[in-house]
Amino acid sequence: MTDFRVEKVHYIPAALEPGILYMSEEFKIAMHLCACGCGSKVPISLGPAGWTVREQNGKPTIKPSIGSGQLLCNSHYSISEGKVKWALAMSAAEAVAALKSDHNRREAYYVEHRWHIRVRRMLFDWFGMQ
Ligand SMILES: [Zn+2]
Repeated sequence: MTDFRVEKVHYIPAALEPGILYMSEEFKIAMHLCACGCGSKVPISLGPAGWTVREQNGKPTIKPSIGSGQLLCNSHYSISEGKVKWALAMSAAEAVAALKSDHNRREAYYVEHRWHIRVRRMLFDWFGMQ
């Protein structure tokens, strides 16, 4: 599912169909189901402070892009002439990898630190230092 079409409504319906951008000009809001298929409803406010939707032959072009923190599923995409264009987003796996490398750096630091403590203790033993 990569194509969206515009459906102009007065009220946004409670049950949304995938691939449809419901637009309510009266309420300056548009809503669609997340393009990744996770089933999240994605509301966007229309207007100068929100998003602009341009419609051509029933196909929406939405600006700016949707996502990057706005969606729980971490999707990030733009819709241009009804087509979904995926943007790069940090996937869950990448986020975990970033955390792990952080953790490894810390571990390496502690290992090094412990090594210094051990050497110092050894020297203390050899030279009878307290
Ligand atoms: Zn999603």
